[in-house]
Amino acid sequence: MIQRTLVQVATMLGGEVSGSQGDISIHGVSTDTRSIHAGSLFIPLIGENFDGHNYAEEAYHKGAAAILWQADHGAAPRDVPCIVVEDTLTALQRLAKAYRKELPVRIIGITGSNGKTTTKDLVAAVLGSTYEVHKTKGNLNNHIGLPLTLLMLTETTQFAVVEMGMSGRGEIALLSEIAEPEAAIITMIGESHMLQLGSRDEIARAKVEIVTGMPRDSLLIYNGDEPLIEQALGELELPAGLRRLRFGREQGNDRYPLDIRMDADGAFFTLNDSAFGEMFIPLLGTHNVINALAAIAVGEAFGASPSAIAAGLRSLQMTSMRIEKLTAANGLTVLNDAYNASPASMRAAIALTEQLSGFGRKFLVLGDMLELGEHEEQFHRGIGAMLSPERVDYVFTFGRLGRFIAEEASAHFPEAQVRAYDDKAELAAELALLARAQDLVLVKGSRGMRLEQVVQSLLA
Ligand code: ATP
Ligand code: MG
Repeated sequence: MIQRTLVQVATMLGGEVSGSQGDISIHGVSTDTRSIHAGSLFIPLIGENFDGHNYAEEAYHKGAAAILWQADHGAAPRDVPCIVVEDTLTALQRLAKAYRKELPVRIIGITGSNGKTTTKDLVAAVLGSTYEVHKTKGNLNNHIGLPLTLLMLTETTQFAVVEMGMSGRGEIALLSEIAEPEAAIITMIGESHMLQLGSRDEIARAKVEIVTGMPRDSLLIYNGDEPLIEQALGELELPAGLRRLRFGREQGNDRYPLDIRMDADGAFFTLNDSAFGEMFIPLLGTHNVINALAAIAVGEAFGASPSAIAAGLRSLQMTSMRIEKLTAANGLTVLNDAYNASPASMRAAIALTEQLSGFGRKFLVLGDMLELGEHEEQFHRGIGAMLSPERVDYVFTFGRLGRFIAEEASAHFPEAQVRAYDDKAELAAELALLARAQDLVLVKGSRGMRLEQVVQSLLA
C-alpha cells in the first residue's frame, strides 16, 4: 500500500497541501468511513446519492491521517491536514497512475464481457507459484476500483493482475492509461452492456481500448474465436511492437485445447503446446478451460515454468465461486449461478449442465437476462432454441423475458417439461415437488432477478 508524505502525495496527484503539515506520512487511501484504516488518506468521492465530503471530518476522527478536499466545496475543515484539489475522483486516478509509475511492478490487465474475475484468479494462480503477485480484490474493476487496487501494491509486488470492467466507450481506455499494462487479456465478446453500446461491434471496440495505455513491445492475448476483436484492432493505432497471441476453442489459434474431460471437481485438458502435459483446473465448464489457456499464455510469457504453471492452476484460489455446486440435504445437486447472466454466460452454464454426467434428471431454472437493449427478446428466444430434451429434462423460466425462452423451448420439448412462471415462490414450490436426489438443477439469471431465493428454498 502506498506510503508517502503528504507533500509527496500532493505532488503526485496535482494538489496543494493547505497548512503546514506536509511532512506527515500517509499509509494507504480510504474512500469509505466504514472501512477507514489508521494513517490513511481519506478521499471523499461524490456519487449520485452521497457526497464523501460530508464524512471527511468523521474520517479524520476515525484515524485518517489527512483528507482530500474538492475546491468547489468551500473551505476545507479547519485543523485537519488536507490537500485541496479540483476534482477528487481525478486526483485518485492521478495518484494511482503516479504511484504505479514509481513501482517496479509488472501489470497484467484483463477485460472482456465474461470471465474477467475468473481469468484474473487463473492468471494470479499461474504466476503466484513463481512470483509475488497481487490481484484485484473482489470485483473492484472500475474507474474507482482499479486506482484503489493499484494503491494497494507495495515496493515488493512483482506482478499485479487487475480486472478492468466497463459499461461504455472510453472507460477501458482510461483504466489502461492509468495501469499501463505490459500484458493484457480480452477474454471474449458477449452481449453484456448491449443496452449502452448498441451492437457487438461496439462492445468489441470498447474492449480493445485496452491497448491504449500499453507500452511498446507489450503483449495482447485475445480470444481468436471472435472475429470482432481482430476487426476492432484493425481500426486502431496499436502500440509499437505490440505482440499478439490468440487463444480459443478453434484450431487456428495459437493456443487451443486438444482434449477436455470433466469430472465433478473440475476439468482436465491438454493443449497444443508440447511443453505441457495434462493440466487440471478446479473449475467446471469448457469456457473455464478456455479462460485457463489465456492464463497459461501469461505464465509462459513471463517465464513461469510449465510445472509451476500446472501447480498454480491445480491450487487455484477463486475470488468467489460464480458457479457454486451445492448439495441439498436430500441429495439434490444445485448449480448456483444466480449471481448474474448474459447470453454468453448463460450458454456456458447450460453447456456445463449438459456435459455433467452421473446425475438423474437435469433441470434448468432460467431467469431474465437484463440490460440487453432492443434485441432482448431475440436473445432469450436464442437460448430457448438451443435447448434440447435429449440433454436436459425440464426448463423452468422466471420473469417476463424468461417466458420467451420457454416459448421457444416449447416447440421442441414435451409440453409438461417446459414451464414459465411470474411468481418465484410458486416456481420453487413446484420444482421442489419434482426434483429428487440424484437430480441436477442449474439456477441462473440476472442479479436483479434474485434467483438465489430459489436456491435457498431448494436447499432448505
Ligand atoms: P463481471 O462483469 O460481473 O465482473 P466477469 O467478467 O468478472 O463478470 P466472471 O465473474 O469471471 O466474469 O464470470 C461471470 C459469469 O460468466 C459466470 O457465470 C461464468 O460462468 C461465465 N463465464 C466465465 N468465463 C466465460 C467465458 N469465457 N465465456 C462465457 N461465459 C463465461
Ligand atoms: Mg468480475
